[in-house]
Amino acid sequence: MWNRIEDRVTRGERLNHDEGVYLLTEAPLIELGALANEIRARRTDPRIVTYVIDTNPNYTNWCTVDCHFCAFYRNPKKPAADGYTHDVEGVMRMMENARGLGATTVLLQGGLNPEIPWKFYTDIVREARRRYPEITPHFFSAPEIHQMAEVSGLSLRGVLEALHEAGQRTLPGGGAEILATRVRKRISIKKGGPEAWLDVHRHAHAVGMRSTATMMYGHVETPDEIVEHFDHIRALQDETGGFTAFVPWSYKRGNTPMESKVPFVAGASQYFRVLAASRLYLDNFQHIQASWFSEGKKTGQMSLHFGADDFGGTLFEENVHLATGHVNKTTVAEVETLIRESGFTPAQRTTLYEILRVGEGPEALANLSAEVPLFIESLRELPAEYPARLEGEEPGDTLVMPR
Ligand code: SF4
Repeated sequence: MWNRIEDRVTRGERLNHDEGVYLLTEAPLIELGALANEIRARRTDPRIVTYVIDTNPNYTNWCTVDCHFCAFYRNPKKPAADGYTHDVEGVMRMMENARGLGATTVLLQGGLNPEIPWKFYTDIVREARRRYPEITPHFFSAPEIHQMAEVSGLSLRGVLEALHEAGQRTLPGGGAEILATRVRKRISIKKGGPEAWLDVHRHAHAVGMRSTATMMYGHVETPDEIVEHFDHIRALQDETGGFTAFVPWSYKRGNTPMESKVPFVAGASQYFRVLAASRLYLDNFQHIQASWFSEGKKTGQMSLHFGADDFGGTLFEENVHLATGHVNKTTVAEVETLIRESGFTPAQRTTLYEILRVGEGPEALANLSAEVPLFIESLRELPAEYPARLEGEEPGDTLVMPR
């Protein structure tokens, strides 16, 4: 099977569903990564890895949808001291903060809060465009667009036209999880089936917006359902051409309602496999995004050798993964150095993947300035079964670092 896939991909032929499943389950990982890299070099400049300076604040954490994988939301039926909803000026303070950090993209999302009036959504887009024209408002995932249709009485197309008219040009891909009916019924039943997410992106592309396609894997899905997800987004990309990139990440289970139902943690090798398989299977996507944030910095660096051409954003603020106990922070200098360490030249891009500035290449590693922070792998969530005591360790032992 592997040799046949290699031949077909090299000739530019499209892979079928069974071949996709094989890539996710049996294909030799190192060869898979090498082939994905070869194809990546045909679609983007092989010397460059892009990144965006961005931040991901939230306007509300009240939400009525109860996704089983979410630790971020607060249910309005259960009083919570840390529940919040920001007004227009509150969102503008986030934009001001983003400007101070040099961000060119603000990815703003919130829970599905029926108390928020329709006008709020168009007001924050319009005000953000007026006051911060240098920042792209990359606002609202597909479920939030459905929520706006609900409160406004407009159709999905009507909501997206109004947002477009207010100045919005891109839509983030959140809320896709796995585009397979069985999975969505199990983890986020109130969000509807795959069509609920696909319809929003189809209409968004039709009104002139570009968007990303995301995927959260590593919970109750099967490899077959991951390929079903690929099939859905590949078909929509054939239809509209509106996706800029594919962005996968693994489920973080800390503090989430389905934490105990998922007995494993999807690790680095599965991430590499998903990235490389997506590069080969999604033959109509130009950009595949790797993440230093969701998978850790070292895994993020390795991902750049498995078909990814983009390192994601700086994510100066992020609260959704944070709620699961997943903490990871960076700086622009660190992102650029991580890219150089992987053998590539960093380039800052816009939300639409236009290059704003090409940095120094890997040769600059010889002159690391004092501004570049010491690299410390982030604090990552540990699986529940992670041993509290290491083998051979006695109670009360303290780890003594050598001097
Ligand atoms: S993932 Fe989004 S829609 Fe689902 S519960 Fe969390 S905030 Fe609500």
